[in-house]
Amino acid sequence: MKDKQGHISFVGAGPGAPDLITLRGAARLAAADVVIYAGSLVNEKLLETAPRAVFCNSALLALPDVLELLVSHYRAGRRVVRLHTGDPAMYGAVSEQYRELDRLGIPYEVVPGVSSVFAAAAALKTELTMPGLSQSVILTREAGRTPVPESEALGKLAAHGTTLCLFLSVADLSGLAGRLLAAGRPATTPVAVVYRASWENEQIVRGTLADIAEKTVAAGIKRQAMIVIGEVLSRNGDLSRLYDRNFTTGYRHGTDSRGGFRGRVALMALTRRGVWKAAEIAAGLEDATLILPEKFRAGAPAMRLETYPDGDFAAAFRAAWPRFDGLVMVMAAGIVVRQLAGVCADKKHDPAVAVCDEAGNYAVSLLSGHVGGANALATDVARITGGRAVITTASDVRHYPAWDEFAARRHYRIEPPESLTMLASAMLEEQPVELEMPRGVFEEEFAGLPFCRLVREREDGVIIIRTGGRGWTLRRERFALGVGCRRGVSAARIAAVAERVLERHGVRRDEVAVIASAEVKKDEAGLTEWAASWGRELRLFPAAALNAVAVPNPSAAAERHLALHSVSEAAALLAAGPSGRLVVEKTADADVTVALAAFPAPDEGGEEHV
Ligand code: SAH
Repeated sequence: MKDKQGHISFVGAGPGAPDLITLRGAARLAAADVVIYAGSLVNEKLLETAPRAVFCNSALLALPDVLELLVSHYRAGRRVVRLHTGDPAMYGAVSEQYRELDRLGIPYEVVPGVSSVFAAAAALKTELTMPGLSQSVILTREAGRTPVPESEALGKLAAHGTTLCLFLSVADLSGLAGRLLAAGRPATTPVAVVYRASWENEQIVRGTLADIAEKTVAAGIKRQAMIVIGEVLSRNGDLSRLYDRNFTTGYRHGTDSRGGFRGRVALMALTRRGVWKAAEIAAGLEDATLILPEKFRAGAPAMRLETYPDGDFAAAFRAAWPRFDGLVMVMAAGIVVRQLAGVCADKKHDPAVAVCDEAGNYAVSLLSGHVGGANALATDVARITGGRAVITTASDVRHYPAWDEFAARRHYRIEPPESLTMLASAMLEEQPVELEMPRGVFEEEFAGLPFCRLVREREDGVIIIRTGGRGWTLRRERFALGVGCRRGVSAARIAAVAERVLERHGVRRDEVAVIASAEVKKDEAGLTEWAASWGRELRLFPAAALNAVAVPNPSAAAERHLALHSVSEAAALLAAGPSGRLVVEKTADADVTVALAAFPAPDEGGEEHV
């Protein structure tokens, strides 16, 4: 007779607290017919979550008996959970069980768990890897009934100076400390012993190699403990560079002025692999929406997702075109080029378009490289995927600054912008260029170009460029900051959000000429106090005026509470006057929203003859 088919799961139960099992592990328990659990370090409260199961404590069994149970229940068509403490991969004695099941051709799955080493680190509130102290962790044990290979003797491992975590080794702590001292680890090395991490009777003993053994014995701890050794326990490492503003990971832009792409991005893909790549890229961008065929809805792991009927790609592309500042197309370039034919207008209005292959090897800046930011977008995409940005605009290929992009990025205004074409071609000819600008800007942007010279430093918001007997003036924009907030928010909180948004977009506080909000906020103490502390006029607009302004991001919350479509965007636009432009769309941070509009150009500026 053919065997009925059951199901075998090896499940990591976690370190002890019953809610530290994974969701998948919990689901396996809930459905289990049989649970074989490993002794005293699996919390029996977990067994209550397996209402249908019969239980068996494997501490009382020899390995062949455990195997026998697994196999017979499986063949009887039952769902069997083999529950291990922590994660099965650490000292779980699972390999012999896997091997035997493989030999019998019986399938099984392994569900990981939170190992006691991580529960101990959590109890100690320590990071096991700290820059400047240790960037590696050795997970090991002292020999017991199970021998440890000679090449892994503790003295040898200790020589690395890394963080050490020892399982199954608390019984002879003084011997252990002695071996580490003999290996040259200083007596002052911090050590912590965590007994039953995450259990109700968890206990922590801290000391040094010199005194930990004595302290642990005094605490009565003889087993069921994790030993953590290393300078990381002192927490005196260097600060992590991951959150350093000047350090750029795939997922966090440095806020240096060269910045990444800013704006709303749509990502489109047409194949399963493409969808996953698009989702990976989306997770690394500040404001990204996935737009996919309906058939991928279920599989797409994105927070912001829109779908269109399968087969309607062309229509979906045309619909997305005017709605986004940037499009990242994860597909063959040819498909994209055919779509572009119908929609592109000019480089001042078209969104940035970047194309990326499914593997993420290349990110091609296809359209609106400078002004639209496609070069920056392609560069961002390449950084996230670890691929290469493909940039073809002449000034970038030759590493000359692109003036239009420079001005937009640094919030300068050139009027009329068309006159820049001459300047750009002067640069391509490598004619000498004289510059008047802030020294910091010169050094970041132009210092590497031999034909560019800083002839005068100026900090008055004006940049002068001279080449070939002609000159151009760029003027820093002035801004209106629109703010919305929940009732009762403090001045300090509003200041913090506003400052962060300004910094992110490279705008200085003194360039904010006015602060604006809604009239219903006139008694909002935090708001008025903050505006006063910045020494700015607070302009408040009535509901009728605010609601007459068209904004890109209407606010559901403002609509509900104040019957206003928008506060921050509408107020910023009203304050900047009739030809003001929204330069930073609404940025919401829980209780405060901020938007930034630029005032219209003054009459002066633009090309000058000198
Ligand atoms: N697979 C388990 C380890 C099994 S070996 C895991 O990943 O955690 C058993 C050893 O693990 C114990 O001797 C002890 O050193 C450690 N251990 C298990 N649970 C623990 C807990 N809650 N607190 C501290 N140490 C624990």
